[in-house]
Amino acid sequence: MSRVLLKSADDIEQLRISAQLLSRLLGEIAKEIKPGVQTIKLDRLAYDFINDHGGTPSFLNYHGFPYSLCISVNDQVVHGFPGAYELKDGDIVSVDGGITLNNFISDSAYTFAVGEISPDVQQLLDVTLESLDLGIEQAVVGKRVGDIGFAIQDCVDKYHYGIVKELVGHGVGFHLHEKPEIPNYGRKGTGIKLEEGMVICIEPMINLGKAAIKFWDDGWTVSTKDAKPSAHFEHMVAVNKGKADILTTFSFVEEALNKVIK
Ligand code: MG
Ligand code: MG
Repeated sequence: MSRVLLKSADDIEQLRISAQLLSRLLGEIAKEIKPGVQTIKLDRLAYDFINDHGGTPSFLNYHGFPYSLCISVNDQVVHGFPGAYELKDGDIVSVDGGITLNNFISDSAYTFAVGEISPDVQQLLDVTLESLDLGIEQAVVGKRVGDIGFAIQDCVDKYHYGIVKELVGHGVGFHLHEKPEIPNYGRKGTGIKLEEGMVICIEPMINLGKAAIKFWDDGWTVSTKDAKPSAHFEHMVAVNKGKADILTTFSFVEEALNKVIK
């Protein structure tokens, strides 16, 4: 889409319903993340869950994407294919989903630890999630897109992680990918001004090693060039005055993982 499509208050409530369903789906997937599970099983779960709740998987057939979820393990950054691969102890796996419900589209991702992961990879997950929260804090009326990117970059740079630059967050709602682009890097006070009615996905993709990525011959999968792990978390937020309105939630995931809910 070439221009920003603003959403009415009613649109945002419809988007919240779609986003909450997607958040519940990620919670269901969280229960299934364990060593020995084939990633295609998660995709089937998502397909059935979405259809059973009256939605359509937004990713399925999107520019020919053949699955309901993007499942990206370890050095895969995003857009990985679910398949016969069995999760194993020490893996991390990014699960990215989208639901179209009554024509309103939601998009969210969470990177799960499988069993016990190493402390440096756990830190990568923690910092990526923290950078997402800091980016979301900037999604308020009067700020600019560059403020979001700066907040994420400022958090991540302290750890000398690689920030993926070729792929970015985006507007969402009536289409899966709308304007504006939301890079995970930037300069304060630059870029498009944020205004009420914008709904955006903020989704840092952060590499333990270098920022460089490669695109696979399958036309979709993106992985790190140095084969080190990559983390990805994504929330969908409505820009508001004072405080961003986060339409998705990780509370179902955290409940499933028995984490302390903030
Ligand atoms: Mg996504
Ligand atoms: Mg997205």
